[in-house]
Amino acid sequence: MLDARALAAVRGGLSGVLDDEQRRDAVARSFYARLFAEYPDFRAFFPAGMDQQRHRLMRAIAHVVDHVEDEAFVPFLHQLGRDHRKHGLTGAHFLAASNALAAAVRENADTWNPEIDAAWRRVVSAVCNAMAVGADSEELPPYWSATVVEHHRVLDDLAIVRLETDGDIPFEAGQYLSVQIPQRPRLWRYLSPAIAPNTYRGIEFHVRRVSAGWVSPAVVSETTVGDRWLLGPPLGGLSVDTSPGAEDVLMIASGTGVAPLRAQLMALAMRSSPPRVHLFVGGAHPSDLYDLDTLLALSRTNPWLTVVPVVENTEEPWWRPPTGRELPLGVHRMLVGKVGPVVTRFGSWADRQIQVCGSPSMVRSTLYALRKAGTPMTNVQHDPLGY
Ligand SMILES: Cc1cc2nc3c(=O)[nH]c(=O)nc-3n(C[C@H](O)[C@H](O)[C@H](O)COP(=O)(O)OP(=O)(O)OC[C@H]3O[C@@H](n4cnc5c(N)ncnc54)[C@H](O)[C@@H]3O)c2cc1C
Repeated sequence: MLDARALAAVRGGLSGVLDDEQRRDAVARSFYARLFAEYPDFRAFFPAGMDQQRHRLMRAIAHVVDHVEDEAFVPFLHQLGRDHRKHGLTGAHFLAASNALAAAVRENADTWNPEIDAAWRRVVSAVCNAMAVGADSEELPPYWSATVVEHHRVLDDLAIVRLETDGDIPFEAGQYLSVQIPQRPRLWRYLSPAIAPNTYRGIEFHVRRVSAGWVSPAVVSETTVGDRWLLGPPLGGLSVDTSPGAEDVLMIASGTGVAPLRAQLMALAMRSSPPRVHLFVGGAHPSDLYDLDTLLALSRTNPWLTVVPVVENTEEPWWRPPTGRELPLGVHRMLVGKVGPVVTRFGSWADRQIQVCGSPSMVRSTLYALRKAGTPMTNVQHDPLGY
């Protein structure tokens, strides 16, 4: 996409902007002001409160600048373009946005010159083009409707929501979707289905309340049976290579991060000879391993699967009753610590395909532990962190 010199110029020019919170906010404000002034119709695509939107835009720009030369980046942008169709955006909208973005950054950067400007314009236009291609080449609907058929609050801050979709969503186990709930119109959030695709059009999400969040508290506390949700097209590509000779698998999850791994395990259970899988499932307290019984049941009937529970604290916090759970005979004993360092106590797992799934901070700290243990990072898959 860009030669190394042009990339270095863009990164240098943008570093002052991206490292300074006030300047980041100024760029985002300028971008949206320019966009809405030139195309007033765009305003309707965005939520009333724009704070989160600005924050997300700048995180996305930082991600683009970091990954623009990665091979997998263009397919990622195609997916992102397709995903934006749920807002009613088409390819033409991305091209219109590219000028506003280039100008907003130029206005707020202090070390800017014609060379950086030219390189930055090339980055922006390549990214917007790739998103436009993704948006315009998609023939599937921009989103599907689904009805909540079950809402089960398994913890004070965590709910399992089951839905029946109106149409067949072509997702694979391990992917994630954007979701809009009726209580929070136009605020789309990514969620990972916790079950594999099936013929009865069932889909299940595990949602943890993020304090001060807009959407997750409403999913946990306000969702009721009969609610109609919108689900965007599938994204992401966590997957297990099941071809002959492929390596065994290590999966590391924490909290609701277990959802896309569990979906893949269920899909693997339907195959004739799945690879051997070790799943380390972590949580702060024993009750945070809210899905352990299902995972252990799966491992009992599938000898290729080993489930290892990991907790940071062996006692429950004062506001939750003890689980009273006894681990059945034959199950790995509960290990104590943060899941990443616990996993790497056993070595580097260099001969495994590895997936890491959880909150952005858990993924970062687990990647750090693996890197420190000597795990080749090319073996490790994870979803994009937080946007
Ligand atoms: C690929 C992907 C898959 C995801 N799958 C799931 C899933 O299956 N289940 C699920 O519960 N969530 C999942 N998430 C997270 C989810 O998309 C939302 O970010 C989360 O529910 C918070 O949304 P909110 O509107 O309540 O908070 P926001 O209003 O978006 O954020 C409020 C504040 O909380 C911070 N914040 C947001 N998320 C987190 C977090 N996870 N940990 C700590 N701080 C946070 C934000 O930075 C912000 O400061 C996934 C995210 C991604 C990127």
